[in-house]
Amino acid sequence: MSNTVCIAGGGPAGMILALLLARQGLEVTVLESAKDFDREFRGDTLHPAILELLDSLGLADRLLELAHTKAKTVRFITARGTTTVADFSRLRTKFPYLAIMPQVRFLSFLANELKHLPNFRLVMGARVEGLLKEAGSVRGVRYQDSGGSHELRADLTVGCDGRFSKVRQLGGFELHKLSLGQDILWFSLPRKASDPKDNVDQYIGKGHLLVTIDRDSWWQVGYSIPKGKYQEAKAAGVGPIQAFVKKMLPWLGERAADFNDWNDATLLSVEVARVKRWYKDGLLLIGDAAHVISPIGGVGINLAVQDAIAAANILTEPLKSGTLQTSDLAKVQKKREWLISLVQSQQVTEERAVTKVLDANESFEPPLPLVILSQIPLLRDLPGLFTAYGLIPVRLRRDLINASPAQTPTMNI
Ligand SMILES: Cc1cc2nc3c(=O)[nH]c(=O)nc-3n(C[C@H](O)[C@H](O)[C@H](O)COP(=O)(O)OP(=O)(O)OC[C@H]3O[C@@H](n4cnc5c(N)ncnc54)[C@H](O)[C@@H]3O)c2cc1C
Repeated sequence: MSNTVCIAGGGPAGMILALLLARQGLEVTVLESAKDFDREFRGDTLHPAILELLDSLGLADRLLELAHTKAKTVRFITARGTTTVADFSRLRTKFPYLAIMPQVRFLSFLANELKHLPNFRLVMGARVEGLLKEAGSVRGVRYQDSGGSHELRADLTVGCDGRFSKVRQLGGFELHKLSLGQDILWFSLPRKASDPKDNVDQYIGKGHLLVTIDRDSWWQVGYSIPKGKYQEAKAAGVGPIQAFVKKMLPWLGERAADFNDWNDATLLSVEVARVKRWYKDGLLLIGDAAHVISPIGGVGINLAVQDAIAAANILTEPLKSGTLQTSDLAKVQKKREWLISLVQSQQVTEERAVTKVLDANESFEPPLPLVILSQIPLLRDLPGLFTAYGLIPVRLRRDLINASPAQTPTMNI
């Protein structure tokens, strides 16, 4: 019987995979290196595909009782005007929006659900540091926590440990990077109830791009810095950034001055990369560990969750019946890889177009096809549809929607 699963990393990919496998009665342990789920300026967007998955498991309504904001559109705002890139409000779904909820709230909610399953274990503060190998196959991990070094044996180990994956490094997987031209500096500014709402906006001005995300009482603001120019920007200090914010977001007025200490900002080194092969005997990588996504479109969490759904669809039966083969792991890569590479290629194309304009200090105009697309009924819904669900939606198999009788989670804690 091969039914023990070790998941390294309790981010969106790891926690959703754990939920889907543990509901089916498999023995699942998540090892999470951090002591809690709190993350500063991490991806906090929950797309309709994620909310629909949780709804099918009877969890969405309770999740959405937790504090969150909603974005109905993603827009480009330039000197010439506003172009809607993706409009979720026209999608035929119970959730026609992006729910913006801090990862700590989302992941703690999942952990709370999972703790009622006797076959699930979450170890916080547990850093995976080695792989256990037997006759060339991975058979679990070695990890370190406050109690010292431990071994956890498992029939399948899944690396869900994010963009700097230790499991990827331990497994000898090679990461191929695609070059990009901008990094993002995240900081916060106060928000008033009368400020614009319902949108994720990307303001493109001379030399820089600004992204604003509504966090209810504050704005999450992203400011682009050309790659390699971080030290130069830091030496110039917050003044040029305040001036840019004031120019692009005049309605924010004097509040731009609230970003007055460089140490309050967090740099996101933007990367797009993926491993060539996602698996080895006994070991699989999913989410950012397998493919690092740019923040363009805010789809990183959506793709990580869709990887988890695809993995659950393909691996649950072989794990349950003790017949798991390396070829099953290959099927997960086959299902997901081409879709991920299409998203990454699109991101690189968009990013290069924006960088070219920013480098040339010119005004940005959204690409003509996008402008045309945004004005034609039917076609204008496509970008929203692809952002919400990916090019091809990945749905949880019907027979996996019902929990195995012995593993029905207790609801309403
Ligand atoms: C600043 C920033 C902003 C972003 N904004 C967005 C956004 O708006 N929308 C969006 O969709 N995406 C966004 N992303 C990307 C998004 O956060 C990721 O794509 C998504 O979280 C990937 O999920 P994951 O589960 O694969 O990895 P992660 O969320 O990175 O989770 C990996 C987990 O593994 C743990 N871990 C790491 N090493 C070990 C180890 N050795 N042992 C055990 N545990 C380990 C980490 O602590 C972490 O909890 C952003 C990313 C960053 C950095």
